[in-house]
Amino acid sequence: MGTAIFVNSWFVESKLSSMSSTPIQPTQPNSVFDLTLEDWIGWTEYHGQPKFRAKQIVQWLYEKRVGSFDEMTNLSQDLRAKLAAAFDFTLMPHVRITGSNDTTRKFLFRLFDGRLIETVRIPANANFHGDRSDRITLCVSSQVGCAYDCKFCASGLAGFTRNLSVGEIVGQVLAVERESGEPIRNIVFMGMGEPLANLTNLTKALEILNADWGVNIGARHMTVSTSGLAPQIEKLAKIPKQIRLAISLHGATDEVREKIMPVNKRYNLNRLFEAVHTWLDHKKQMITFEYILIEGVNADVEQAAILAKRVQSLHAKVNLIPYNTVEGLPWKRPDVATQEAFRDVLTKAGVSATLRTEKGHDIDAACGQLRLQEETAEGTIERSTPNVKRSISNSR
Ligand code: SAH
Repeated sequence: MGTAIFVNSWFVESKLSSMSSTPIQPTQPNSVFDLTLEDWIGWTEYHGQPKFRAKQIVQWLYEKRVGSFDEMTNLSQDLRAKLAAAFDFTLMPHVRITGSNDTTRKFLFRLFDGRLIETVRIPANANFHGDRSDRITLCVSSQVGCAYDCKFCASGLAGFTRNLSVGEIVGQVLAVERESGEPIRNIVFMGMGEPLANLTNLTKALEILNADWGVNIGARHMTVSTSGLAPQIEKLAKIPKQIRLAISLHGATDEVREKIMPVNKRYNLNRLFEAVHTWLDHKKQMITFEYILIEGVNADVEQAAILAKRVQSLHAKVNLIPYNTVEGLPWKRPDVATQEAFRDVLTKAGVSATLRTEKGHDIDAACGQLRLQEETAEGTIERSTPNVKRSISNSR
């Protein structure tokens, strides 16, 4: 790993075409987990192999979960050598795991360039949709850092570094499954980063995660959460998969939302709701609005009433999330009475709303917190304070 890997022209071309919108570090090895079945067919055909070789490769990768090309015993030595020369097999190593198998576990992974990302595994009784099924939910990161600068969030505190590759997104799921020995059936893209700002890689990763030849997670069990990139929501709407969408709303008027989410200046609430309508036209499913309750900012009953009006006629539900404090940021969660009053306005208006009250519900936690601690301690990044110009010591 880390050495310049031989790549054939087919792969270079396909990678170059995705680089225009999704920068990949030049030294990043090509991972076996970057490719869809169609990509594998392209690769095997380029090497004069029949199509079914591609099927065999993905079977070894995702059904049998082998850890090396040597184990792909129905492929010729020659083909295995070509694969080994072109692709890297390693999953990201974990740096730290906190929590136990039956509580929320946070995985901190180190990427090829030394950067860190967090993946959070949430056990059965705390899944995103709030039902007490036996499903485990994985909160996955999509970028290193985040460029959207939401004022309450830890992920953007050190600015944006880069998009995750397809293999780094898929790899989080595979690495956690390997470590915990249990399949993941639910994924939420609520870790570090803005998934829709990494749309090309996200879409490919969704395909690999969803495909029956791949990780085989139902599309309805994958939720993409966005700060509200309207055009990208519309693009994703057109992908014929019943994936779910969660919108981080956090304000019912432009005035309030703009204060804590600068993205609202680019796509205001009217524009965002236009995209939501497009989504609902294409998906015929319920959409989720996340709404963090922050004391003195967005948690008053006036905001609740406006929010109710906005979402009333939509096939939508609202997840109210008491703010998780982030070290160094001034925001606080309101008291329980204020939280409940907010919820009651919504429910009385006929809006489906849930208020998360349990402790340790880390699905709501900003996944960037653990990474921030570690990277700051290692001196990889300098932590900046809000409204102070971002500084990254080893930015490239
Ligand atoms: N960029 C995407 C996904 C990552 S954040 C998005 O904005 O949706 C996942 C969710 O956690 C978002 O709703 C985000 O607003 C929320 N979040 C961030 N920091 C939080 C905090 N300190 N407490 C509670 N929720 C937080």
